[in-house]
Amino acid sequence: MNRLFRTEGIVLKSMRLNEADKIVTIFSYDYGKIKGIARGVRKTRSQFGSSMENLTIIKVLLYKGKNINTISQSEIISSFFPQTKDIFRYGLAIQCAEIVDKLSVEEDPNRGAYLLFKKFLLLLKDEQNPTLLVESFKWKLISLLGYEPELKRCIYCNNLLNNNSHYFFDIAKGGISCIRCLGKKGYYQIKITNYHLKLIQRILDADLEKIHNKEIDQSILHELEKITDTYLAFHLEIENQSRNFLNRIKLL
Ligand SMILES: [Zn+2]
Repeated sequence: MNRLFRTEGIVLKSMRLNEADKIVTIFSYDYGKIKGIARGVRKTRSQFGSSMENLTIIKVLLYKGKNINTISQSEIISSFFPQTKDIFRYGLAIQCAEIVDKLSVEEDPNRGAYLLFKKFLLLLKDEQNPTLLVESFKWKLISLLGYEPELKRCIYCNNLLNNNSHYFFDIAKGGISCIRCLGKKGYYQIKITNYHLKLIQRILDADLEKIHNKEIDQSILHELEKITDTYLAFHLEIENQSRNFLNRIKLL
């Protein structure tokens, strides 16, 4: 990385540093997650200040310092909240930004995940009925970041799953257990209907812009949310634990 470097990115979050400055976390196309100090943004209502708002897609120029980068210029490509003015969709997007933040590692680029998040934010602005879009984003992100579960075969006996009414999703092992193998080795399993299993497979295969939920029942979407969030919560917790563990090792 040069001392001065330029990239495109999305503001994930920011933290007040002092009266005038913020530390901003950016998910960038070229460098993955990066952090930088934005000076003077808390004082003036400038273009630079607006570009540092959460979920803004920006072109940014940073200067690599000894301990932390300084954000020296930034230009808005697209801002989220000022355009939607919808607190509900803003909340959903913030939740998704938190997942991106927690599952990504600093300076470890994942261009696929960046483009997915950018596309998701642009689609979410116009989606009036966003539940399926949000769940689809989460599954695609899970897949791009390397946590995609095995959904076609039983993870214990390796037999193809052929249209039983339901199965069990082994959250810890990251795959589906057929009914015969249930409880044999797994310890963290939740029931999943064949319909939901197929729905997740369809989501993973389809382009994000083709996904709309005009026909899907609310109760089905609600169940999908539960499955997705249980799976994500488990992996976010594991990530946290292993990172804390690694940080502790670094201190020894
Ligand atoms: Zn089995």
